[in-house]
Amino acid sequence: MQGRPVRVLYVGGLGRSGSTLIERLLGQLPDVCPVGELVHLGQRGIAEGERCGCGQPFRQCQFWQQVGKAAFDGWDEVDVGRIAALRARVDRNRFIPALARRELSPGRRRALDEYTMYYARLYAAVTEVSGCRLVVDSSKHPSLAHCLRWRPDIDLRVLHLIRDSRAVAYSWSRQVRRPDTDSESYMATGSAAWMAGQWNVHNAAFHLLAGLGCPTMRLKYEDFITAPEAAMRRVTDFAGLPPQAGYPFLGGDGAARWASLDGAHSVSGNPLRFATGKIPIRRDEQWRTSMPTPQRRAVTALTFPLLAGYGYLGARR
Ligand SMILES: [Zn+2]
Repeated sequence: MQGRPVRVLYVGGLGRSGSTLIERLLGQLPDVCPVGELVHLGQRGIAEGERCGCGQPFRQCQFWQQVGKAAFDGWDEVDVGRIAALRARVDRNRFIPALARRELSPGRRRALDEYTMYYARLYAAVTEVSGCRLVVDSSKHPSLAHCLRWRPDIDLRVLHLIRDSRAVAYSWSRQVRRPDTDSESYMATGSAAWMAGQWNVHNAAFHLLAGLGCPTMRLKYEDFITAPEAAMRRVTDFAGLPPQAGYPFLGGDGAARWASLDGAHSVSGNPLRFATGKIPIRRDEQWRTSMPTPQRRAVTALTFPLLAGYGYLGARR
């Protein structure tokens, strides 16, 4: 493994905030390797063999075969149950206050070191196999970012993705089929009030992480959609990548914007991770007309302080 810390851009935020799209676009840049939501690699990849973004079942994907070999001498050497048990001991949002302290109890520290060692080896192996300077992990969960910040061998940079809470809650109310398996399976859904609470917790946890000194960049999904090139420039600067001459995979005719995507070896995530070719980049504002008024009002009220702070309650842009 390398002597230098492995650089990881961790996309954080609540699900349905556009992380998959942003990860896919970043993955079009040279020197960037997007891996999807690595937090699900153990269960959905190693144990259940769900499909990689390239379309192959996880164990048959050559890229992941090489990563498994480089990191652990093969996936069979990974004790998925052990990783899950460690995760339950340290990587939960309820442990964030403890993880935010300057020191950890010896027991928690041991569990944390063993748990995050698994990620450090994965990231280092991805860097080695891909030859890329930057790994993009869109695991999103704040608790994992709080765990990873403890490791000196990971140069962690967090892209805190923010989206209007009403749009997020509306998206979680709809059933979306997952193309990741052959059996019938759907993305998780959540009630408006529950999602409002989750939205507060997730965003507050990333503010706390930034306050602890973890390099963090905040990006509003809506700003990204409005001006993708400008957002990409900010993100690449933040991630320490050299300035890009341009973004040939982004284009548009008048108001219609699009991106042109190649394949990627991503583990888990939004169905968009399988998309290749030209895809539209547009604001999904369906919640404004389709979200039932009581739910919209409830989410606005429950998320009011941060929603106002982020500027979502001013004039519509
Ligand atoms: Zn693959």
